[in-house]
Amino acid sequence: KKLSSSEIRQMYLDFFHEKGHTIVPSASLVPNDDPTLLWINSGVATMKKYFDGSVVPDNPRMTSSQKSIRTNDIENVGRTARHHTLFEMLGNFSVGDYFKKEAVSWAWELLTSPKWFGWDPEKLYMTVYPKDTDAAKFWEETGVKPSHIVKVEDNFWDIGQGPSGPDSEIFYDRGEAFNNLADDDPENYPGGENERYLEVWNIVFSQFNHTAEGTYEPLPRKNIDTGMGLERVVSIFQNAPTNFETDLFLPIIRKTEALSAGKHYGDNAQDDVSFKVIADHARAITFAISDGALPSNEGRGYVIRRLIRRAILHGQKLGLTEAFLDQLVPIVGEIMQSHYPDVLKNADYIEKIVSSEESRFNETLNDGLNLLNQLIADTKAAKQDTLPGVDAFKLYDTYGFPLELTTEYAGDEGLKVDEAGFEVEMKAQRDRARNARSSDKSMGVQRSLLIDIKTPSEYVGYDELTDVHGDL
Ligand code: ATP
Ligand code: MG
Ligand code: MG
Ligand code: MG
Repeated sequence: KKLSSSEIRQMYLDFFHEKGHTIVPSASLVPNDDPTLLWINSGVATMKKYFDGSVVPDNPRMTSSQKSIRTNDIENVGRTARHHTLFEMLGNFSVGDYFKKEAVSWAWELLTSPKWFGWDPEKLYMTVYPKDTDAAKFWEETGVKPSHIVKVEDNFWDIGQGPSGPDSEIFYDRGEAFNNLADDDPENYPGGENERYLEVWNIVFSQFNHTAEGTYEPLPRKNIDTGMGLERVVSIFQNAPTNFETDLFLPIIRKTEALSAGKHYGDNAQDDVSFKVIADHARAITFAISDGALPSNEGRGYVIRRLIRRAILHGQKLGLTEAFLDQLVPIVGEIMQSHYPDVLKNADYIEKIVSSEESRFNETLNDGLNLLNQLIADTKAAKQDTLPGVDAFKLYDTYGFPLELTTEYAGDEGLKVDEAGFEVEMKAQRDRARNARSSDKSMGVQRSLLIDIKTPSEYVGYDELTDVHGDL
């Protein structure tokens, strides 16, 4: 079946609606009741209040397509076929209602029934936690061949204290052409490192309470939480070698080609990485700003700034020397319009933010890049393998290069960065700023010192104490 991404998203939601689930709209990327979380990173992250019992949902069965951001995957983007910073997680949730048997048989029905996805059962593999004989039994009962049920020790979802349990992950066999490992490689199984098997869905059977004493007590009311990556599913439907050759990304790539005047996606592998990074980051920054986050030097804002600057550096590699990211914003809005109409509505505002952030970085970009390339050349000429922390700090402080960008750029040249040295410079600058701020306010100094002393990790030692007392 050749379906559009909008149709596929809707099909998932319709299926679970037929099974009695309420379709819940995607929540904001900015968590509104969870200070421990920088970004919403999964469907279940928006459902904590139901799973911990603090709020009772109208319907214990819910389904959603949740926009999610994962910063731990930033450097995978463009290098793997399947990772994004912003992606959509389709999910179905049971808050103390149905459990393993239904979750398993509905998953199989959605994936294989000709009325729904209609995928070939031969291509599907289910991993199970070895001790979870129930999951294996239910997969078999619903029609999965025993040879397609794979035991994987990792399949246990546990975040420390709280609900936990075994999970079952579903892999799609994309065929021999995607095999990147030797036949006798120990990672050659669904769930291993072989890119032939694409992880599409994770079904968590939340059945224990992991107690403070470290024991696992059965939960009186067991929960289901699942996550299916929309972009990966679309890549299968649209027969795309990676997520990027789907209708979710291609229009952004085409626009980037047009702006680049001369570069073409598919011509060479290195340029393709840049096209992919730009398309991915354009989506993430557009959505993040649409949800009210803004570029800045810390927290969420720093993530946005880092993504914008990383995209701009890749733009340089494609010969995009003028501002270009802002022009991708409306394309993202159009692609996502059917499920996220707000983004296109906010496009003017988002473009303004992106474009001012672009021109700010563009002012120092060329000088910064010249310095960075010079440093790389000098380091290589000196037969060293590490860029000094002082220089990484100068790139950060004077030219606006986030440390991670410098590290990644140097990494592409086979070099490391002295990150500890960078931190020393960073701390010295913070101390200078603090001293400058408070040199004429002695009470303020004392107070800030007391605060420091109460925080062992921030304890600055006696040198600073005596210095400041000297000022008093
Ligand atoms: P992977 O092993 O491929 O990194 P994961 O095991 O970290 O994925 P889960 O935490 O199980 O992912 O999330 C559930 C589903 O969400 C995955 O099966 C996948 O389809 C999708 N997913 C997870 N991370 C990403 C990402 N960075 N980009 C796109 N889809 C993702
Ligand atoms: Mg992952
Ligand atoms: Mg995984
Ligand atoms: Mg997983």
